[in-house]
Amino acid sequence: MAAMGVRDPNYYCGGAGCGGILLVLAVGVVVGGGLAYRHGPHWPYMLLHRHAPGVIIHHSGTGATAGGRIIDADLLDVAHAQRGWAIADARHTYHIGYHYVILPDGTVQRGRPEWMPGAHTAGKNRYLGICLVGNFSSKDNPDGTQKPSRPTAAQLETLASLLKELMKRHGFSPDDVHGHDEFRATECPGDRCPMDRIRLRLAEETSRM
Ligand SMILES: [Zn+2]
Repeated sequence: MAAMGVRDPNYYCGGAGCGGILLVLAVGVVVGGGLAYRHGPHWPYMLLHRHAPGVIIHHSGTGATAGGRIIDADLLDVAHAQRGWAIADARHTYHIGYHYVILPDGTVQRGRPEWMPGAHTAGKNRYLGICLVGNFSSKDNPDGTQKPSRPTAAQLETLASLLKELMKRHGFSPDDVHGHDEFRATECPGDRCPMDRIRLRLAEETSRM
């Protein structure tokens, strides 16, 4: 047995040699992960971000159409590109800051992949972002000129199924589903978006599962 203080590399692991190797390994993992994130494959980042802590709901703050164009994931991608937002995987550059968009007829569209951080709520972009198209704020859209002025029944149905699927996949609870305005002062997703009802329905339906 080696005396205390003798640095036998076979089983003494407290010296600079072993520490140095660990440091090199750690730097390698960080740098390698960073490079892989930029250039793909993205497994280090995907492993780190496998589970989102919850979901943040937004509205588009528009009618279903604006200037004759349908507001959907493609248009939001263009709008967010103009803000300079971009994140890429090996195949595609995503500008849209949300992970999902739900149209007034209940159609769900994909934004950026779930494993990517969002660009929708400052400081909370590990949450998945879902945008419902419409303007649900009675302050910004008082007379409901921008339609829908509250989430449609079809949007709420799609949202409930999507949230149940995401809860199962990421392991969060109904209490982890928030409106944007629960994190910062904003009219998003608007006072006509029934966040409490959305959470309650989710809690009721998942307790029966
Ligand atoms: Zn928002």
